[in-house]
Amino acid sequence: MAVGDPSIETPPRASSPVHKFGTLAVHAGSDHDPVTGAVIEPISLSTTFAQSAVGKPIGQFEYTRSSNPNRENFEKAVAALEHAKYALAFASGSATTAVVLQSLAAGSHVVSISDVYGGTHRYFTQVASAHGVKVTFSPSIEIELDELIRPETKLIWIETPSNPTLSLVDIRKIATSAHQHGIHVVVDNTFLSPYIQNPLDHGADIVVHSVTKYINGHSDVLMGVAAFNSPQLLKHLAFLQNAIGAVPSAFDCWLAHRGLKTLHLRARESTKNATGIANALSASPHVIAVNYPGLSTHAQREVALKQHRDGMGGGMLSFRVRGGQAAAERFCQSTKLFTLAESLGGVESLVELPGRMTHAGIPKEQREAAGVFDDLVRISVGIEDEADLRADVLQALEKAVIAPKIANGVNGLA
Ligand SMILES: *Cc1c(COP(=O)(O)O)cnc(C)c1O
Repeated sequence: MAVGDPSIETPPRASSPVHKFGTLAVHAGSDHDPVTGAVIEPISLSTTFAQSAVGKPIGQFEYTRSSNPNRENFEKAVAALEHAKYALAFASGSATTAVVLQSLAAGSHVVSISDVYGGTHRYFTQVASAHGVKVTFSPSIEIELDELIRPETKLIWIETPSNPTLSLVDIRKIATSAHQHGIHVVVDNTFLSPYIQNPLDHGADIVVHSVTKYINGHSDVLMGVAAFNSPQLLKHLAFLQNAIGAVPSAFDCWLAHRGLKTLHLRARESTKNATGIANALSASPHVIAVNYPGLSTHAQREVALKQHRDGMGGGMLSFRVRGGQAAAERFCQSTKLFTLAESLGGVESLVELPGRMTHAGIPKEQREAAGVFDDLVRISVGIEDEADLRADVLQALEKAVIAPKIANGVNGLA
């Protein structure tokens, strides 16, 4: 629904653009229930809404696929946090990607960064082609973009930071080039969340999220969202949202909206924890390299300082452990607080091996060219206590790298 429609604007009591992030997170789209005064919105499970005369709904809702109160409140909140006029929610991050790609005419061309999310890569290479949309991947989009643009190029797709190597793209630079050719820029902002980065402020046309990750933040909802400022995009994408019907349930919208209210607290805490862990890893003799945009040694630290709130690094990092894939696997099995699992952005810390798990579908040569070596470990840092997480990482490193050497040594003597 039209989040910017003045008839459904949040009343002055609640949020407005003059308010800061935490205030907006708590209040945007969270009006008291006008009938009961309930401070927390009820979950509106009704699939259909009564009409007083033919074609005259009593309120603004008709049928839940087209719009419903919980989805609309959630969309308002995300729009406020992403500095967007409009937001549309979808059944998953992947459904969001699919709808954005579906909005392109057959014959369109897309330029994407190489190390996009695995599911996005799969959609681009195996689904978009079926309706005549071609995607070119670029490992260094900032340098190559002008050469890759064709007359039929309609979209640039960026993920910054990228997954799992946490490399950054200068959004303003890409948007400036793209806009000279009338091309839209999409930024997948899942890894940082709107608290740390607002791509529309840097010239992007559409920002997308897997809400499943930081926005919901509690690893119990699968959902996606797109936010943007153009009324034409609203018309087109809202039409597809309804026509395709890949929409989230009212209950999931309610849960994700609840999660979003603490996003700023969680993002700050996980950044603090990740920074502590990145520093500890950098100082460890068992680690080959650390990828974390919060470190002053990160290759694109200036981009982080320009695009991220206070240069924050976020809660995601990856590192190469000494001892190859075997050591990396031992590390993942030796942590006690970090759970070995895919996904990210929840309150709990997770660890995974991209080469064997999230990125296993990409051929090894291609993977390694993008920096995804067999010894690369990715961690999603949660909001537990920093000292406990740091100690857990250090003990797991000892087990992964030192313990086998001692064991081998002892066996050698025997
Ligand atoms: C998880 C993820 C997606 C896909 O989202 P789903 O909600 O799992 O469909 C897209 N982009 C990024 C960066 C992700 O991490």
